[in-house]
Amino acid sequence: MSTKIPVQNIDPQDPSTAKVKTVELYEARKKIYVKEITGVFQKVRSFSLWFLMGMYFLFCWISVDGQQLVLFDLPNRKFHIFGAIFWPQDFVLLSWLLIICAFGLFFITTLFGRVWCGYTCPQTVWTFIFMWLEERIEGSRNQRMKLDQAAMNKQKALKKAAKHASWLFVAFATGLTFVGYFYPIRELVPDFFTFDISSGWAYFWIGFFTLATYINAGWMREQVCLYMCPYARFQSVMFDRDTLVVSYDPNRGEPRGSRKRSADPKEIGLGDCVDCGMCVQVCPTGIDIRDGLQYECIGCALCIDACDSVMEKMEYPKGLISYTTEQKLEGKDSKLLRPRTFGYGLALVIMMSAFAFKLGTRLPVELDVIRDRGALFQTNAKGYIENAYTLQLMNMSDQVRTFVITVAGMDGVSISGNSEFTLEPSEVRSIPMAVEAKPSALTERNHDIVFKAQAVDDASVKIESESRFLGPAPVKF
Ligand code: SF4
Ligand code: SF4
Repeated sequence: MSTKIPVQNIDPQDPSTAKVKTVELYEARKKIYVKEITGVFQKVRSFSLWFLMGMYFLFCWISVDGQQLVLFDLPNRKFHIFGAIFWPQDFVLLSWLLIICAFGLFFITTLFGRVWCGYTCPQTVWTFIFMWLEERIEGSRNQRMKLDQAAMNKQKALKKAAKHASWLFVAFATGLTFVGYFYPIRELVPDFFTFDISSGWAYFWIGFFTLATYINAGWMREQVCLYMCPYARFQSVMFDRDTLVVSYDPNRGEPRGSRKRSADPKEIGLGDCVDCGMCVQVCPTGIDIRDGLQYECIGCALCIDACDSVMEKMEYPKGLISYTTEQKLEGKDSKLLRPRTFGYGLALVIMMSAFAFKLGTRLPVELDVIRDRGALFQTNAKGYIENAYTLQLMNMSDQVRTFVITVAGMDGVSISGNSEFTLEPSEVRSIPMAVEAKPSALTERNHDIVFKAQAVDDASVKIESESRFLGPAPVKF
C-alpha cells in the first residue's frame, strides 16, 4: 500500500477550480426589484395584509360607550383593551397575555413554518403597501429598473417625488395612528394640526415612527428581516423535518434548463425547471429558493405562485415549488401532529384557560390601606383610642359605584366619620380615615384588623385589606 497522499494543485484564481463564491464582508446592498405576481398565495397574502392594516388604522377610531376600544392610557396608568381595563396591578395578566402570544407564535411556526413572517409581520405588511405604491407610481419591475438607470429628467423627478410623498404620507399616518393608541386619537388628530398637544413627547413619537416606517418599509425592506429581526434567527429551532416550508423539488426540477414549450423534457434530458428565474424575480428577499432552505426565506409563497404560473404555461403539473416538508421531499410520510406540536398546543390551551379564568374572576375593585406613620395612636374627644389610615380605593369598573367601608378584627372597632363613598368609573381615591376603639377593648398593644369595601349595588364586588390597630399597653391586674 502506498504511503503517499496524492496531491492536486489548485489555483484559487483559476475559475475552473474555484467553485466557492466569495463575497465582500461588507458588501453593498443590491437593490431588489420585486416583480408583482398574482396567484392563490398572493391573494391570501393581500387579504391578510390589507385586513391587518385596516385593523391597525381603524381600531383606535372605534369607541364603545365613549371609550376608545384600545387605548394605553399611560398618564392615568390604565390600559383599555377591547372593553377590559387593565391596571398596573394587572401587569401579571398582561405579561401572561404576551407569553400566550409567544406560545401561539411558536405553535404556528412549528406547524406552518414562517407564516407569521410571510403573511402578518408588520414589516411585511408595511413593505407590501410601500411596494404596492411603488408599482402604481413607477410601473412594473422592468420599468422601475429602467427608470433607476435613466438620467435624471423631469419625468423621473416627478415619479420619484410622488413615490416618496406617498410613502411619507403612509408613514405619517402610521406614526400618528401609533401614538393614537396612547393618546386618545379623536383628541390627538385635531390637537396635532392645531399644535395644541400639551406633551412634546407626542410630537417626538409621531416623528420617530414616521421616520422609522419610511426607512424600514421604503429603504431597508428585506434588510430588516435579514439583519435586524431576532425572530428570523431563532425560529429555525422550532423547525423539524415535518414543518411546512416553501421548497423547490430538485428531484423533479433538475437538471434545469430552457427549452421550447413543445419539447419533452425527458427526451432532452431536462427536469421541469425551465430556469426562467421568475421565482427569484418575485422574491421580496431576492433569494433563489432552488438553492435550498435559507433563513432569508420569509415563507411568503410568492415563488410558488410564480412557478405555478410558469408550469401552467408549459402545461406541466403545478407544485415544482410548494409548501411541503423535508420528509415529503425525501418521499417519506409527514405528520402534522407530533409531540412538539402537542406540547406547544397543550401549553397554549392551559395558559389560555388560566388567563380566561383569572380575567373572568378579576374583581373590579382594589383596596390598599396605609397606616399613618406620623402618630402611632391618639385619644379622641370620646376618650377612645384612635388610629389614622389612608385608604386607596379604586373603582376598576366602567360604572359609577358606591362602596361602604367597614372594619373588623377586634371588639368594638369602628370607623369614625364617613364610611360611604361614591366613585366614578376608573376613579382612584385616597381616603383619610380614622378608626376608633374603646381602651378596654385593647387586650394587646397591637391588633390585626381588616378593612372591607363592599359595593352597594353588587354583593359580589367586595374586597378586604389587612392592617394593624395600635394602642397603649393594656393595664394588667
Ligand atoms: S423564496 Fe419564495 S417563499 Fe421564500 S421569501 Fe422568496 S418568494 Fe417568499
Ligand atoms: S419559476 Fe419555476 S421554472 Fe422558473 S426558474 Fe423558478 S423553479 Fe424554475
